[in-house]
Parts: sequence; C-alpha cells; structure tokens
Amino acid sequence: MTQTLACDVLVVGGGPAGCAAAYWLALAGRDVLLIERSTHPRERVCGDALTPVAVGELLDMGCDPSAARWHRHRGLRITAHGQSLEVPWPQGEQWPGYGVVARRSRLDALTFARAQSAGARMLTGTEVTAPLITDGHLRGCVATRLSPAPEEVTARARYVVIADGPRSHFGRALGTVRTRTYAQGLAMRAYFPTPRHAEPWIESVFALADHAGSQLPGYGWVFPVGDGTANVGVGLLSHHYGNEAISLERLFEQWIQQIPERWEIDPAGPRTEPAGGRLPMGGSVRPRSGPNWVVVGDAAGSINPWNGDGVGPALATGRLAAEVIGQALDADDGLELRHYEAELAARWQRYHHLGRLTTRALGRPGLMRKLTQLAIRSPRMGNLAMRVSTDLLQGSAGPLGPRSIYRTASGVARLWRDRT
Ligand SMILES: Cc1cc2nc3c(=O)[nH]c(=O)nc-3n(C[C@H](O)[C@H](O)[C@H](O)COP(=O)(O)OP(=O)(O)OC[C@H]3O[C@@H](n4cnc5c(N)ncnc54)[C@H](O)[C@@H]3O)c2cc1C
Repeated sequence: MTQTLACDVLVVGGGPAGCAAAYWLALAGRDVLLIERSTHPRERVCGDALTPVAVGELLDMGCDPSAARWHRHRGLRITAHGQSLEVPWPQGEQWPGYGVVARRSRLDALTFARAQSAGARMLTGTEVTAPLITDGHLRGCVATRLSPAPEEVTARARYVVIADGPRSHFGRALGTVRTRTYAQGLAMRAYFPTPRHAEPWIESVFALADHAGSQLPGYGWVFPVGDGTANVGVGLLSHHYGNEAISLERLFEQWIQQIPERWEIDPAGPRTEPAGGRLPMGGSVRPRSGPNWVVVGDAAGSINPWNGDGVGPALATGRLAAEVIGQALDADDGLELRHYEAELAARWQRYHHLGRLTTRALGRPGLMRKLTQLAIRSPRMGNLAMRVSTDLLQGSAGPLGPRSIYRTASGVARLWRDRT
C-alpha cells in the first residue's frame, strides 16, 4: 500500500539544517512536512562544540542551552609547540559571549522538537529514496517507511528543501555536484572519561607530531561535554600535505597519545569506539537551488573551511531557505528562489574564498608551524585567528581591529584565481 501526503514545503532530512528550515517555515504559518530516516534520540558523529554564532541561532529558535543543561564554555584554548593561549569568546549583538558542547543526540532531539511544536509535520523512521519528477519538474519525493512495517510513501510538495547531510543522495539525483578541487574535511572522534569534563574552555591542538617528532597533518581537539566525558577528535583536510601516507584511524591513535596532560585522559582507558565522517566545506556544492528546490547545510557544502564548524552554517542556511521559500509562496513565483544563491554569496562567498586559500596554505607543514608559532605567542594574533576562524568579526571594528585586517586580507584574496 502507498500512503500519499501533500504539503507546500517538503524538507528532506531532520538534522540541524532541516529542522531550522522546518521551524522557520512552520513559525510563519507554512504547511511543512519533514521526512527523516532515523528516529530520535539518535547519534550523529560530530565534535559537539557550538560556537557563539551557532548558539545565537539556537536561541533565536527558542532552544535554551541552560534549560537543556548543555555544557557552557567561555572560549577557545589554542595549544601548539608546548604553549597554550586562552582566548575568550567576544559578545556580539547577534550572539552570546559563550559557546556550548552538546551531544548531538540531545541537540538534534531539541531542534526537532522545536520544529514540531512550531507546527511542522515530522515523519521519522522514513527513508526518502528518490525525487518524484513528472514532466521534468520536481513534485516531491518517494520514500519508504521503515517501521513498524515497511510502507511506501509519496509526498507531493510545491517546494523542497534538501537537507540530507554530507552525502546528499537526493541533491545528487537533482544534479548537485561537489567541486573536487575544494578541500573536504575528514574527522574522527571518540568520548573519553575525564575528571576535567566541566572545564570552561574547549581546546584545539595544532602542530601534532609522531613519536619520532615528525610533524603530522591535521589538528586535534578536546571538547569537555560536562557529563563525565570529553569529545576527543582529530581532523584533517583532503589537501593537507602528507595525509596521503596516513589513515584517519592511525592519525587518531597517534593524536590521543599526545592529549595535553591537564585533561587527565588515559588514551588506553575506556572510551567509545572512534567514529568518523566527511565535512563538505567552503560552499563546495553547486548548484544550491533549482526551479523549486534549495539545498542547505552539509548537503550544500556549507561547513566553515576555517575550523570545520557545520552546525552554525546548517542552522543559518536552513533559516535563509525558509525566508526565501516564504517569499516564493507569498509571490506565487518560484523565481524568488534565485535570491537564495545571491544571499549565500553576499553572506559567505568572500569568507569561504579566503578560508579556502588560508587552509591550502596551512596544509603546508612548514607554513603551518610558523603561523601557529606566531598565533600562540601573541594574544593579539591569537584573538585575530579565533575571531576570523569562527566568523565572529562583528563588533571588532577599528583601523587595526580584526575586522579591518580580515577585510584587507579578503580584498587581497580576491586577486587570487580560485583554484582551491
Ligand atoms: C567527526 C566530525 C566532527 C564534527 N565536529 C563539529 C563540531 O564540533 N561543531 C560543528 O559545528 N560541526 C561539526 N561537524 C560538522 C557537523 O556535524 C555538520 O556540519 C552538521 O551535522 C550538518 O548538519 P545538517 O543538518 O546539514 O546534516 P546532518 O546533521 O548530517 O543531518 C542530515 C539528516 O538527514 C537525514 N537523512 C539523510 N538521508 C536521508 C534520506 N534519504 N531520507 C531521510 N532522511 C535522510 C539523516 O538521517 C540526518 O538526520 C563535525 C563533523 C564530523 C564528521
């Protein structure tokens, strides 16, 4: 038997991007149906660290980190070459002066609940298998309800938001492509018990070395979760020099041997199985809209290339998609969707371009060593690096402030042909 559903807007995927799109659409009174393969609570491999930008988006959605009892942190500790620098998060107009670490099972369950309570219909345990196309037009999707008993579902919609994560089979079926010359992140994490689980700093560790002292590609992190554990992981970029010779699993095992001692983490002690995933970044997926569809979050390659943050961009692109589709519904004109690409470009194009150029340079071990030495020795440089890499530039004006330096750098970057 086939169940047939109809809606104005169909959202494929119920991660942060899909839930944000469904929340903002439903809040504006739109008829939304979200289809998600899994059922909550479910795990999603992630570092679980949210910067103030992401927290600002969550607060706007009515998610209260205090009520959820997520672990708050006051800034980023950058560690390299045996030295550390603690850089507090700046307060902005659109974000608070703190970040949080929230396990994805809990974060995603809350954003899902917010979309549902705003009025979105949520169909879980249902896998979208293909776009529904008639006369060359996207009309919705075909899906399979996985439980309690398998059942075919056809969902008809006027507009579709594609939010099915990094592999985005739905997007690929409609012709989206990831630009292979742009770097893609690869990362792996596990949870370790630690008495320091309530530390107020998240930590990123650069200039990793193997036991012989040779530099390793990538960087490590320790993000205290506040529940007796820390999320410990390592990430690298597909174009880092030297990573051809090393597997992510091996890099992870080498990294956990050099976790800073202050965390009192026993690398041989109990931990969850390490798990990894891909991070499509820097606006690497195109096109991001079609006649009646838009692509958001990882499916659109939205991850910040500077630091691998994907939850904030997922929430922000989901919100932007909701605004643009709302305009299309009001005007009864799909051409309104062209504003989506324009808004994405206005918000992130230069930032992503400079990020791609910078991470390409940082992929060279010698340059990476020099720049991390510079950043770690100077609080001003450390503050600049933190603000730029986490997209926290607002309110940092002044002739020599981070915003001016960033603008100059991004102006220079525009002269570079974009091959990264
Ligand atoms: C190891 C690792 C560490 C990371 N660390 C961080 C971090 O510390 N901070 C940060 O901000 N970001 C981090 N990221 C990135 C972050 O996890 C992603 O950017 C974010 O999850 C993107 O959200 P999304 O909604 O676009 O996609 P997802 O979270 O992947 O959600 C997509 C959803 O679509 C569903 N779906 C997929 N296919 C179908 C289908 N056919 N039918 C129905 N449903 C479907 C999936 O089940 C899933 O729920 C990390 C990523 C990795 C791999």
